[in-house]
Amino acid sequence: MSIRCQSFLTLLEQWAPLYYAEDWDNAGLHAGDRNKEISRIMVALSPGEAAVNAAVEAGVDMLLTHHPLIFRSMKQINSDTATGRSLLKLIRNDVNLYCAHTNLDIARGGVNDVLAAALQLEEVKPLADLTHDTCYKVVVYVPAGYEETVREAMCKAGAGCIGNYSGCTFQAKGTGTFLPGDGTNPFLGEEGRMEYAEEYRLETVVPQAALSAVIKAMEAVHPYEEVAYDVFRMENGGEERGIGRIGKLQNPMSLADFLDFTGLQLSCNHLTYQGDLTRQIKTVALCGGSGLSYLSAAKKAGADVYVTGDMRYHDAQAANELDLCVVDAGHLATERLIVDALAGFARKQGLEVLIFDEAEQDYLKHWSR
Ligand SMILES: [Zn+2]
Repeated sequence: MSIRCQSFLTLLEQWAPLYYAEDWDNAGLHAGDRNKEISRIMVALSPGEAAVNAAVEAGVDMLLTHHPLIFRSMKQINSDTATGRSLLKLIRNDVNLYCAHTNLDIARGGVNDVLAAALQLEEVKPLADLTHDTCYKVVVYVPAGYEETVREAMCKAGAGCIGNYSGCTFQAKGTGTFLPGDGTNPFLGEEGRMEYAEEYRLETVVPQAALSAVIKAMEAVHPYEEVAYDVFRMENGGEERGIGRIGKLQNPMSLADFLDFTGLQLSCNHLTYQGDLTRQIKTVALCGGSGLSYLSAAKKAGADVYVTGDMRYHDAQAANELDLCVVDAGHLATERLIVDALAGFARKQGLEVLIFDEAEQDYLKHWSR
């Protein structure tokens, strides 16, 4: 089975909308044609040259990664640099490259939720840079007998989700009136005669990311020539979103036990830490990758420990001064689980998925004397 690349990206961006991404980031389609038909893709954490070579050798249609290939602006694309060589290779071999970076860190079910799940945290909430998603109320008038078809199509396209509930809609029966004008071809009634139709007013909540898809899906199955619908911006907003996560361990444990547990859960043999090993850990804040800029946010939110990657000496010193334990499980170990989540998502859309094994490409090696 194959689908148009953009159709797949529309679904992916409903999960991790591009407007979630940080201003300094560069998420999106880095190379390739949105109209290309795709059936086989490769998923990797980073679009390093090894992953690009593997994707080209495997003959996949697209490489899907978390880290971006083009990060700073480029003024030349040539074989002098690794990024230039990768871009040339991808384009010459007609392999698209899509990167879902900070938008996927922030998205529900993205990098940080996957990490929180691996650490078996409960009552998980976003940690920092908190904001509410913009939400819309869509109201549409549907002739009796079509209310279920329209409702289903709208919910399938992303409408009607409130917390962990899906399919949330409301409908009320009433009478719609309309006068078909010259040259119309009305589904009910006839040209020039006032029609009183039995209709349902169907209403549901739609997040910004799904609005155009929901309206398109609604119009595609609605039987009327001219569909009457209203879109209202909701002041109460949607779900809270933000970077990082904070949650609770089911059973508190010492920092020493938490280090063991984290190493086991993230398949990582080498952890760096800050704090007293006997300290009791109950509330855990985390941010996959390089998350040290949220150290104070983690402390403020009441965390006993902060799990992230890329801790430097002065970060540990700052954490010590904040009286906050830190566990650095490494950039790769705190992010690589997203590769399976991306692969699972793509398989659900009917794509054949290959996984590039990043563990073999861990650039950061540890030497024990
Ligand atoms: Zn990263």
